[in-house]
Amino acid sequence: MNLNKNTEIKNVDVNTKIMAVIGDPIAHSLSPLMHNDIIATNGLNAVYFPFHVKPEGLAKFVESAKNLGFAGFNATMPHKTPLLDIVDIIDEEAASYHSINTVKIRDGVTYGYNTDVHGLFTAFEDAGIGLEGSRIMILGAGGAAGSIVIGAESQKVGSVTVFNRTLDKSESLCGNLEYASAKEWTAEEMRRAASESDIIINCTSLGMSGMESDFEDLSFLDETSAMLCDLIYNPWETAFLRYGRERGLKTMNGIWMLIYQGILAFEIFMDVKLDRKKEAERLYDICRDELECHEPVKK
Ligand code: NAP
Repeated sequence: MNLNKNTEIKNVDVNTKIMAVIGDPIAHSLSPLMHNDIIATNGLNAVYFPFHVKPEGLAKFVESAKNLGFAGFNATMPHKTPLLDIVDIIDEEAASYHSINTVKIRDGVTYGYNTDVHGLFTAFEDAGIGLEGSRIMILGAGGAAGSIVIGAESQKVGSVTVFNRTLDKSESLCGNLEYASAKEWTAEEMRRAASESDIIINCTSLGMSGMESDFEDLSFLDETSAMLCDLIYNPWETAFLRYGRERGLKTMNGIWMLIYQGILAFEIFMDVKLDRKKEAERLYDICRDELECHEPVKK
């Protein structure tokens, strides 16, 4: 059975562990490619499928996955929040982010986790970027930004400054978090914050493939020496990252977050410990080939 161009399933039997990713849409997910490559490389008896599950089909899918004895599944948009009402036992971190991207199933019981934020933090760690005490500037206040801002506390960051087009959302996100503050999305405020930041993370969808809008003005980056991270990986290098790279800034695209969230999820599904860095480096090349991008990329 060929699941994708890199993976061939040779032996499937009654002991084969079944895993999946669900979403709406799901066709472009890189998760089957990554997980089946981990399975093949490590010689495990398992298989990982993509399933197109619409919002109204979520509860039925979870029931089916339990009945069929799946080891677990990943969830992408729009299922990460609705799963909170369906999963039996929710991990503390996932509850604090109001978002589940990984569900483990054991003896008919579902356990919900979130590996997105830990995935991003592991990517920073493996790239040699320490978060402790760092001043972080976040662009955006949507689902991904929200989890990262909340998760930043566990990394003992110095401060988090959040900029969002809609100020109300960033203000309510920062709420009573002592280390976080919301600022107005203006050129002047952004320039000031950028020059006082160690890391700037783009968590907006600006610059994402298929999205018409992009940053109109990136000159707020002119006086910073911060490391730039974009959660987007398609395109491989966004205008935000290119602007920084051309000015000598260190950059990291969103593929590292995607890869590490996948590795952490895989460990949860299969009760295994992987050599995370080794797996990540191999998956990086595979994902880059899949996205057929040959632009220069800096980690
Ligand atoms: P979301 O909840 O829809 O949030 C989107 C954010 O983008 C909001 O802050 C929104 O601002 C802002 N935005 C959208 N259009 C804008 C515009 N024209 N001008 C200024 N701001 C604009 O999405 P999300 O789930 O947080 O995802 C955000 C990005 O992260 C997406 O590109 C997604 O693909 C990426 N992501 C990557 C990974 C990974 O593993 N690498 C994981 C999760 C997400 P408003 O609040 O004002 O609408």
